[in-house]
Amino acid sequence: MRKRKRKRLTLDENNSSKIIQLQRNLVLLLFNHHQECLLSRGRASIIGSFRMRNETTAIDFIDSREREMTDTEYLLSIFQQTGALLEGHFQLTSGLHSARYLQCALVLQYPDHAESIGRALASRFSDERIDSVVAPAIGGIIVAHETARALGVRAIFTERETGVMTLRRGFRIEPGEKIVVVEDVVTTGGSTRETIEAVTRAGGVCIGAGSVVDRSGGGVDVGVRREALITLDVPAFDPSECPMCKQGTAAVKPGSRKQ
Ligand code: ZN
Repeated sequence: MRKRKRKRLTLDENNSSKIIQLQRNLVLLLFNHHQECLLSRGRASIIGSFRMRNETTAIDFIDSREREMTDTEYLLSIFQQTGALLEGHFQLTSGLHSARYLQCALVLQYPDHAESIGRALASRFSDERIDSVVAPAIGGIIVAHETARALGVRAIFTERETGVMTLRRGFRIEPGEKIVVVEDVVTTGGSTRETIEAVTRAGGVCIGAGSVVDRSGGGVDVGVRREALITLDVPAFDPSECPMCKQGTAAVKPGSRKQ
């Protein structure tokens, strides 16, 4: 009886790589099917994909690059479906001009999309203990709210007071409180940097910064670890060098910050 048991164990060990390969193929098949189902429902929801990513250990068989692409594709499809991916001639909050603009507010107006986004951002910081989420108003408020909900912590926001990013409305940060700063879109990283400064002034420790979209192609350095759900490398031009300005069209301002 004992002998037989030992023999079976050896057999399993020999076949383990084959079994892992079979499991991997099955997971890939299910994952692809799952994506198609979500898309064919016409209500592009990323909740499923992120839930799978967080809760299914077998999904670890899919390498991180494949997962990354899937998340980005899902998010972009949501931007497209909600009309949040704008084409034209835009003046960004940074003052630069661009032919493409991602209006996150048009995605975030749907609570289920906002919730998915928050959950996805929260999962990027799952290895850290976070006390609070802080965002620059107005664009970051919903992102912070939903990220905080997923993390089970509170969300507060900073506002400009005579040009300086400040915590108002009685918001306080305890000394040493661990903070993640989130935003909707990062282009130059200006708002995120100013929010990190406000957090530091208030006694908090910023351990990371997240955004739904990174328009800098990942190039922006805000002094802390940075995570983005969509990283795009969209050319942005100084108005004096903008090819669309040279064609004679006027840039429109879809952003929220007044110049
Ligand atoms: Zn222009």
